[in-house]
Amino acid sequence: MIIGILKEPGDESRVALLPEAVKTLISWKVTVWVEKDAGSRAFADDELYIESGAKIHNREEILQQADMILGIQPLEEKEISKMKSDAVLFGQLNALYNPSLTQYLINNNRTAFSMELVPRTTRAQAMDVLSSMATVSGYKAVLMAADLLPRFFPMFMTAAGSITPARVLILGAGVAGLQAIATAKRLGATVFAFDVRQAAKEEVLSLGAKFVDVEGAKEDKGAGGYAVEQTEEYLQKQKDTIHEHAMKADVIITTAQIPGRKAPLLVEERTVRAMKPGSVIIDLAASSGGNCALSQPESTVDINGVRIVGVGNLAAKMPQDASKMYGKNYLNFLKLIIKDGEIHLNFEDDIVTGTCVCHKGKPVSPRIIQIQNN
Ligand code: NAD
Repeated sequence: MIIGILKEPGDESRVALLPEAVKTLISWKVTVWVEKDAGSRAFADDELYIESGAKIHNREEILQQADMILGIQPLEEKEISKMKSDAVLFGQLNALYNPSLTQYLINNNRTAFSMELVPRTTRAQAMDVLSSMATVSGYKAVLMAADLLPRFFPMFMTAAGSITPARVLILGAGVAGLQAIATAKRLGATVFAFDVRQAAKEEVLSLGAKFVDVEGAKEDKGAGGYAVEQTEEYLQKQKDTIHEHAMKADVIITTAQIPGRKAPLLVEERTVRAMKPGSVIIDLAASSGGNCALSQPESTVDINGVRIVGVGNLAAKMPQDASKMYGKNYLNFLKLIIKDGEIHLNFEDDIVTGTCVCHKGKPVSPRIIQIQNN
């Protein structure tokens, strides 16, 4: 069986598997073909892949001959059409929110797995690319803020006087937010965090941050631990509380998302205008509408000295470790479906079923089936 790894498109600097992961895969009796320069932006050159046992091929050869293709960003339809009819496609296909690609896969009798569909269960944690990439983003967001801030993060007592620690406000305490809290604490900042889920409070406190409480949030036990949309009244109460905290903050990092919906607006324009000049906002939700009213995806806006950085794919700014984590998640997933060097899809396994968009054109994941039935 040939597993193909393609060079990612556009600005994407990560690669699905680094040479170290390829070596493990090869020990499972499979052949790995890697596109020329696939890992170069993650600092893994072709020689390292060759040393790990892979063969370097051109893109067309891989598309046409591989039995499995592993990627991160979704492949374009015209490239999928070149794959063997029974080849299996893997990637972060955004299958729930990219209906045209999902429909294309179904209509063309394809078999595809979309890694963001990995169920968020304890057994699947080692395969959860969303958590891995959110960890990278939360960490990197704090470093970006620290770099832009015209002040220190930690407290200093020096002969030239004492410096008070920076005050950091984290909005949304999921995986990215918790990593941002931990990183900002390590740098010595005083950290406040807010989330609509009460379960997040305990985690925030355990990291040594202070929890900003806004009572009356709606929670849904059936939402799999995710936040749900809030009432207008609650959202206004929340914006007012954030406004009060923002005026005292040096840094705000926003990470609040609701799967499949526009990100909630948490930092209003009046709040940005009330913040201290020199303050920094990093909006990790910028590409899904933004948690800050003035953020722009992939750009920095300056409002009276308050810089708002709208970031999307922050994981790609740390391609080496991000690719390492991605590859490890892939290996853990592939362990479930590769036996004796061949693919064996066991649809009795809820992780395999939950992640499979379609098998030979038939929708498999309950979440995809639900969308198809609506
Ligand atoms: P996410 O990226 O979907 O959202 C980030 C955070 O924003 C969440 O904590 C969410 O509650 C919060 N949020 C949404 N709307 C908000 C609002 N209006 N105001 C403030 N905060 C708001 O979340 P995520 O990091 O992907 O994690 C989502 C859930 O999944 C969490 O409960 C997490 O613990 C859980 N999870 C479980 C596993 C596992 O068991 N394998 C792995 C990862 C995450």
